[in-house]
Amino acid sequence: RSMAAEATTTATCGYCSTGCGLRLHLREGAAVGLTPETKYPVNLGMACPKGWESLRVLDSPERATMPLLRDADGNMRPVEWDEALRTFVTEIRGVQERHGDESVAFLSTGQIPSEEMAFLGALTRFGMGIRHGDGNTRQCMATAVTAYKESFGFDAPPYTYDDFEQSDCLVFIGSNPCIAHPIMWERVLRNPNDPAIIVIDPRRTETATAATQHLQIRPKNDLALLYAITNVLIQRDYVDHDFVAALTEGFDELREHVAAYDVESVARQAGISPESIIRTAESIGTGRAVSLWWTMGVNQSYEGTRTAQAIINIALLTGNVGRPGTGANSITGQCNAMGSRLWSNTSNLIGHHRFEDENDRRKVAHTLGMDEASIPSEGSWKYDRIIEGIRRDEIKGLWVIATNPAHSWIHQSDVRELFDKLDFLVVQDMYHTTETAQHANLVLPSAGWGEKEGTFINSERRYGLLKKVRRAPGQALADFHIFRAIAHYWGVGDQFAKWTDPEAVFRILQELSRDQPCDITGIDGYRHLDACGGIQWPWTAADAAKSLGDPEATCGGKPEQERRLFADGHFYRPNGRARFVVDQVREMPERPDPVYPILLLTGRGTVSQWHTQTRTRQSPVLKTLYPTEAYIEINPVDADELGVVHGEKVDVLSRRDEITVTANVTATVQRGQAFMPMHYEITNRLTLPHFDPHSGQPSYKDCAVRIVAR
Ligand code: SF4
Repeated sequence: RSMAAEATTTATCGYCSTGCGLRLHLREGAAVGLTPETKYPVNLGMACPKGWESLRVLDSPERATMPLLRDADGNMRPVEWDEALRTFVTEIRGVQERHGDESVAFLSTGQIPSEEMAFLGALTRFGMGIRHGDGNTRQCMATAVTAYKESFGFDAPPYTYDDFEQSDCLVFIGSNPCIAHPIMWERVLRNPNDPAIIVIDPRRTETATAATQHLQIRPKNDLALLYAITNVLIQRDYVDHDFVAALTEGFDELREHVAAYDVESVARQAGISPESIIRTAESIGTGRAVSLWWTMGVNQSYEGTRTAQAIINIALLTGNVGRPGTGANSITGQCNAMGSRLWSNTSNLIGHHRFEDENDRRKVAHTLGMDEASIPSEGSWKYDRIIEGIRRDEIKGLWVIATNPAHSWIHQSDVRELFDKLDFLVVQDMYHTTETAQHANLVLPSAGWGEKEGTFINSERRYGLLKKVRRAPGQALADFHIFRAIAHYWGVGDQFAKWTDPEAVFRILQELSRDQPCDITGIDGYRHLDACGGIQWPWTAADAAKSLGDPEATCGGKPEQERRLFADGHFYRPNGRARFVVDQVREMPERPDPVYPILLLTGRGTVSQWHTQTRTRQSPVLKTLYPTEAYIEINPVDADELGVVHGEKVDVLSRRDEITVTANVTATVQRGQAFMPMHYEITNRLTLPHFDPHSGQPSYKDCAVRIVAR
């Protein structure tokens, strides 16, 4: 296909937070093929199967090509945009008039560009009087956000991908980059330091198999284990006393707290040897440059925030922040989870400001040229409270954009019933076939990756460009243009008169970022991002002025170390210090018992599928790389006792539902545990709806089940 191309251009991949650069091969202005970009600083010429298949999924017959409206008989019929938008306004306004502004909410995504997120957040909360909205980033990153804010003073993953190559000790906690972030894992494999690679995970994952040490703990013992490691580090004086004294607070409280977590009892509880805990502490304590990485095994937990902070504590304690190869590093999930964190205008006022702060509200109103009275003084309900609001008849209208909660939300059967209680459900998506769209009153067809413009922010805080290299099918429109049309039909078009196109909005976002830790006022628009292969935040106007006349520095500074946060020893809390945060370890809410004796873990199962498979199942290539039918991993000893045979069907029952899946008998899971990939539509029928109390993130990885051979 590339042989037929007449020209090429580059764009950032639209799946995971790695943010790989892809080179698009164009014919008559449209992409006809792609290859990984060799010069992009992120992926260095590599891409995973999802990236390679990015164009194929656009051609699916399941694409929504016309607005669809449910008629009185319950059938979906195609309508023109004018009727769709009039209906949207009539129905959503009708709900607000009958039940109040609080009765309408939106659920958005980390999959759309920052400019679209910002438009949606500003339109709903400043223009339409919609009080509540949240994103599916609540399911992946909310815990890291909360942990960083409390510990560092701002949601600030401190690292750059070079750190994978510069550490001499890497610790992965609840993280399987071989599968979840394969290009990041490739960067680990390029590390020339022969590093210690320590994996803390209940499963023998692909990453654990490649590690130099695997602490295969019993699930939900990670917080106690991290406290025990911290205790050893302090007892053996692997403390960077200068760093702790100058740049942190709360050390005495930390030392007293972790003293209760002795190695012997924690090891017994976690099902590992005391020596393995001591060896881990020794590796961290003696490491020259230690980096600690976490993903959903930590974030998706009922005590995820405190676990993430226990990781941050270790990095601070040992002075492993702000130097090459170090950091307490949350790896983001979606391609623009960071964009959602900064720009969605839900929990935080747009640009990571505070709704409660009068000065912040004034700054935002002034920058946007809006009346200060239009800026609310409170953040939104979190996702779980919005779902609960539907149950309590407080939420009666819902607008779902580019996400699929009827598949992905915890205890989904309940969610599906709740969606049918709504007065009006709007689903805005590339595909009209998602599980959530099945419940919609109105489907708005949207353009996908490659069919629109904007910016994504990856895990290392790099703004990368999304480009339009295809025409969206039928009448599908970029979400940006749908929001613009809704603003017009709602009667608030004048309020958003300057929001003409994505780059104009990017300029607005730059102004909103001014003087924030995420300041990007030094970026000279999309042209600059394109020329540089993306730019990491912060890149301020002052940084840009300093780089004048130095072509090497205009892309955000070289060497790469300069793009790491906290190298200057200043954290974002008011006193400039990072904070140690500790808490009591809590009991697992639903422990296995004689009736439901197996603990079910869920997570990513493959490199070839993305989340709910909405897009990736549209690619025949990706489908062949992964079993179409749902399966469950069962330990061989458990399988033997249960009479389960590999490859045969089993029933899996929880207190919420029961499903039938194929047994995959494997020693990757421990006795008494089982694992199911989240990609299958039925997995979340079983999961237990419980949440981290600080972040509101669902705890997907611990529910009790019974497995019965058929
Ligand atoms: Fe895209 Fe992530 Fe794969 Fe890179 S690793 S090609 S960003 S899905």
